[in-house]
Amino acid sequence: MTDVPIRIEEKLYQNRYLVDEGRPHIRIKDAKVCLACAAKTCTRICPAGCYSRDETGSVTAVFDGCLECGTCRIICADQGNIDWFYPRGGFGILYKFG
Ligand code: SF4
Repeated sequence: MTDVPIRIEEKLYQNRYLVDEGRPHIRIKDAKVCLACAAKTCTRICPAGCYSRDETGSVTAVFDGCLECGTCRIICADQGNIDWFYPRGGFGILYKFG
């Protein structure tokens, strides 16, 4: 049997999400802190690609596809610029295979 490489996008597509509209479970506290942050590690480390940066250095985030892994919360601890909570019960990621 030959191993067939699977792209991360294909794996993420297996997940389902129930978005709690108007109640994001992650919030960037101050966009100016992100702008001044030299590393912007969140834009590279989030496994779901929730964070992105534009050509001006601004960081934007869309948390609808968040895996609730908590990585961004840890990686931003030096800046302290993220409020992070689990979604309310019944909302957030719905793992299809456990
Ligand atoms: Fe990305 Fe994990 Fe943070 Fe969700 S908790 S935004 S998946 S790094």
